[in-house]
Amino acid sequence: MSHSTEDADRRDFLRRMLGLSGMAAMTVISPSAFASTAVAVKGVRLSESGGKTRVIFDLSGPVHHSLFTLSHPDRVVIDFDNARATRALHLSPTPLLRDIRHAPRGHSDLRVVLDLKSDADASSTLIKAGGARHYQLVVDLSSVSVGKPQPVITAAQAQPHRPLRDVVVCIDPGHGGKDPGAIGKRGTYEKTVVLDIARRLEKLINREPGMQAFMTRDSDYFVTLRGRLAKARKRRADLFVSIHADASPYRYPKGSTVYVLSEHGASSEAARLLAERQNDVDRVAGVNLSNKDNLVASVLVDLAQSATREASFKLGDKLKGSIDRVIRMHSNTVERAAFVVLKSPDIPSALIETAFISNPAEERRLRTPRFRASMAGALLGGIKDYFEHHAPPGTILAERGRVLREFG
Ligand SMILES: [Zn+2]
Repeated sequence: MSHSTEDADRRDFLRRMLGLSGMAAMTVISPSAFASTAVAVKGVRLSESGGKTRVIFDLSGPVHHSLFTLSHPDRVVIDFDNARATRALHLSPTPLLRDIRHAPRGHSDLRVVLDLKSDADASSTLIKAGGARHYQLVVDLSSVSVGKPQPVITAAQAQPHRPLRDVVVCIDPGHGGKDPGAIGKRGTYEKTVVLDIARRLEKLINREPGMQAFMTRDSDYFVTLRGRLAKARKRRADLFVSIHADASPYRYPKGSTVYVLSEHGASSEAARLLAERQNDVDRVAGVNLSNKDNLVASVLVDLAQSATREASFKLGDKLKGSIDRVIRMHSNTVERAAFVVLKSPDIPSALIETAFISNPAEERRLRTPRFRASMAGALLGGIKDYFEHHAPPGTILAERGRVLREFG
C-alpha cells in the first residue's frame, strides 16, 4: 500500500471516528488573548513570478520560526514561536499554493500550514522591512519537477528574545522491579544491564554542553509503559531513547537492532489520544486541544505525528550508524514496530536492542563494564549526530548548528 493511500485512510478514519466531514474554519484568537510579548502576525500577502510563489507574512517584530515540508499531501509547515495571528490569514490559490491554514500551537506558538498542489522546495528569510517594529517573514516556494524532495528543516532566527535552553533527552532503561526482562543462560538480567548502560549514557549526556538527560527509572523498580511516556512528556523531553537487550529461543541470533514506531502504531495512537481527549488528555503532540473542534485537532495531531515519525527515523539511522562501530548490527535497516514506548506523538523516539542476551557470547559482552561503556558512548554519538541537524529551535545546540552552517 502506498504511503499516500495509508495517510488518506488514516485521515478518513480519524474523521469518521470523530463523526465529522468537510473542512472547519481555524480558530482566530482575539487580540486580548495573547501575552504582550507575543509577536503579532498581522497579515499575509502573495507575489507570483516565473513559477515561484512568494508568501510574505507581516510581523510586529522578529520571530523564531522553523519551517519544514511534508508530503502526502504536500504541505509546508511554519511554526512561529511565541506568536499569534491577529486576524484570519487568507490567500488566493496560485499554480503552486492550494490554501493556507493556521492555528495556535501549545501555550504561545502559532502553526501555519501552506497546502500545496504539488511538491515544492521551500525556504524562508526573516527581514526587517523598515519601521521600528515592522518585520517580514518571506517564504519562497518553487516547484520540484523531479524526484521526491528530502524534508528540509531550517531554523532562521533573528535577535533571540528568549534565553537558549538545553535539549532534553529522556533515557528509558527497559523493564525493572518485578519485570526482569529477558534472562541469559548465565543468569544475567536484561533489567540490570540496560540500567547500567542507561546510567552511563545519562552521565555522558549531562557532561555535554547544551544537553541534559534524565531517566524513566534510575534504579530497580517497575514502571508501566504509559508511565514512561508520561515522564517523558512531563519533563518536555526533546528525544526519547529506550534501551533493551534482545532474546531469542535460539542461541545463534546476535547483534544490535534499532526500532522506530511503525506508521500503523502511530495512527492507532492518534486515534486513542483523540478518543481520550474528553477525559484527561487535552494536550496531544504539544497542541492544546481544549479549544479546538475535532477536525482541527485531528489535523494538528496528524501533522505533528508525521513530522515526529520522520524525525524518529533520522534519529534511528544516526543511532544505527554509531552503534555499528561497537557491535555488528543484527538488522542493517532501522526496523519499524508498534512498541508502546515509541508512541509519543510529539517526541522523536527510538528503541535499541543493544545485543542478544540469549546468545552466550553476547551475554558475556553485556556483563562487561567495557562493553556497556562502549554502548553508552555509541548511543551518545548517535544522539549528538541527530541534534547536529535537528536540534529544536530555541536550544543552544540549534543556535550553534546555525552559526556553524552560516559561518563555518
Ligand atoms: Zn526488553
